[in-house]
Amino acid sequence: MAEDDYYGILGVDRRATQDEIRKAYRRLAKEYHPDRNPDKSAEEKLKRINEAYDVLGDSEKRANYDRYGTADFERVDMGGFGDLFSSLFRGFGGFGDMGFGRSGRAGPPPGQTLRMTIKLSFNEAFFGTEKEIAFKRKISCENCGGSGAKPGTSPTQCRTCGGQGQIVRSMGGFMRVAQTCPTCGGLGESIETPCPKCKGQGLQDERRETKVPIPPGVEDGQGIRIQGGGNFGPRGGPPGDLILMFSVGKHDAFVRRGLHVYLETDIPFSTAALGGEVEVPTMWGSSVIKVKKGTESGTLFRMKGKGVHTENGRTGDQLVRVNIYVPRKMSKEQKEYLSKFEDIFG
Ligand SMILES: [Zn+2]
Ligand SMILES: [Zn+2]
Repeated sequence: MAEDDYYGILGVDRRATQDEIRKAYRRLAKEYHPDRNPDKSAEEKLKRINEAYDVLGDSEKRANYDRYGTADFERVDMGGFGDLFSSLFRGFGGFGDMGFGRSGRAGPPPGQTLRMTIKLSFNEAFFGTEKEIAFKRKISCENCGGSGAKPGTSPTQCRTCGGQGQIVRSMGGFMRVAQTCPTCGGLGESIETPCPKCKGQGLQDERRETKVPIPPGVEDGQGIRIQGGGNFGPRGGPPGDLILMFSVGKHDAFVRRGLHVYLETDIPFSTAALGGEVEVPTMWGSSVIKVKKGTESGTLFRMKGKGVHTENGRTGDQLVRVNIYVPRKMSKEQKEYLSKFEDIFG
């Protein structure tokens, strides 16, 4: 799925800052505004400019676009991930022409798409990792090359359908309906002497083990589709795809959304009132935030760069919500101080 070149549309470099992108957008939006440009092509152009800015103007969408060639994960059809993994799964490869290009009849049906879930811990998804996967699939029978016919023999034309894979039936005398041939199941062929190894199916089992590199920042429910990674179809049918879905575990303290991490933390009442420094855990080790005096409960702090660091250099932030901690148990001395405090402020 070729997506538009959003950088080209806005006329900016791939390394442009968000500010440069915003400026380029403003300039173009003015230039192609219908008040200045009443013609139809300008309107079309403006639409594309808006579309490009909708993605590049949002740093999260932009990061997805940079990485996967699309800003929209759910829709992806996961094709965008394909490139990322294509080199890795080249081992599956060489399917490009198999089973295709048979003109004149339907040809063998493609194989099934396989689905697998890859479980990742919160940390693995955050930092990226490499996962070993093992699965079974059907590949073309090596003995007969997938034809299903005993080596030295070849499939013959199906007598029922004459090799068409379809038969035409009359219905009610006036309607004619094409149906898949019941004898050959649409293949157009029949096998006189089946391959002894695959019993005419043209398939054999393969057990595959491979390492899948997981880039930092993948999210629960996202997946990748590896074209041709699934089962081959019977009798030389092309392979289906392999779909890997990520299931990401939860963290006790952190919550992730996109590249950002969210955390709630308690601070003592005295720090909130007087101001001070508070040590806060992050995925990158503990760090310090400066709390201004008079900070209210629920205040949000942004810790820049403490979120996900993607391979292409984008960084998310950590957002910390501070809650003021009210002690349940207090010493006699503490109680006395608080009473004094109340007297002064009361
Ligand atoms: Zn065989
Ligand atoms: Zn047939």
